[in-house]
Amino acid sequence: MKCPHCLENFFEAWRAQDQEGQGVIRDRDGWWTLQYCKCPACKRAIIRLSHGEGETVGPATTLSTELVRPRNVSAAPLAPEVPAPFAQDYLEACTVLQDSPKASAALSRRCLQRLLKEQAGTRKANLAAQIQEVVDSKTLPGYLADGVGAVASVGDFAGYPLKSTNAGEIVDVRPGEAEWNLSILESLFDFYFVQPSRLREKAEELTRKLQEAGKPQTEASDG
Ligand SMILES: [Zn+2]
Repeated sequence: MKCPHCLENFFEAWRAQDQEGQGVIRDRDGWWTLQYCKCPACKRAIIRLSHGEGETVGPATTLSTELVRPRNVSAAPLAPEVPAPFAQDYLEACTVLQDSPKASAALSRRCLQRLLKEQAGTRKANLAAQIQEVVDSKTLPGYLADGVGAVASVGDFAGYPLKSTNAGEIVDVRPGEAEWNLSILESLFDFYFVQPSRLREKAEELTRKLQEAGKPQTEASDG
């Protein structure tokens, strides 16, 4: 998993206190139990709360699992090249991810739609068609086109047409959908804003170096 504190990847071994009488809380809504692990990179504990119903405590009877420490997954720091309107939607989508994946996915769909219009120049009327348009245009590297295409399949746009016709509408999400949208946005930001800008900087630096090298000796030593 990706550590929600520092975003480093590590292989998690969740430890639970879920034997009866040892960390299982029961009330009229069912059972509640905590699991924890520690990130080897940042040494912080990650704690989650599981809730379920039934006599036995375990994955089969679990209804929900949520992070309690940290409350939210840290947003990946965005490069300064990402323009403010896009960065704002993205960061907001990260902030609400834990409490409302639905709201998060709505924000990231809206952000994706704007990105496809303004950066990829798509002209179709809804998000599903815009996604198809940019995939068909072959302007994205293959892996990225596949990833963008998967936004529609992971989100089951066919079953939830509102996600396509009203991209920013809050609609039920499927498992992993909100996270997927966010990681696609990160990759697209990198492709549309960060890499071109870094390459431009390198080209400018190269031009400067060539000019320096081309200067007559006296001028260079004077300056
Ligand atoms: Zn960590």
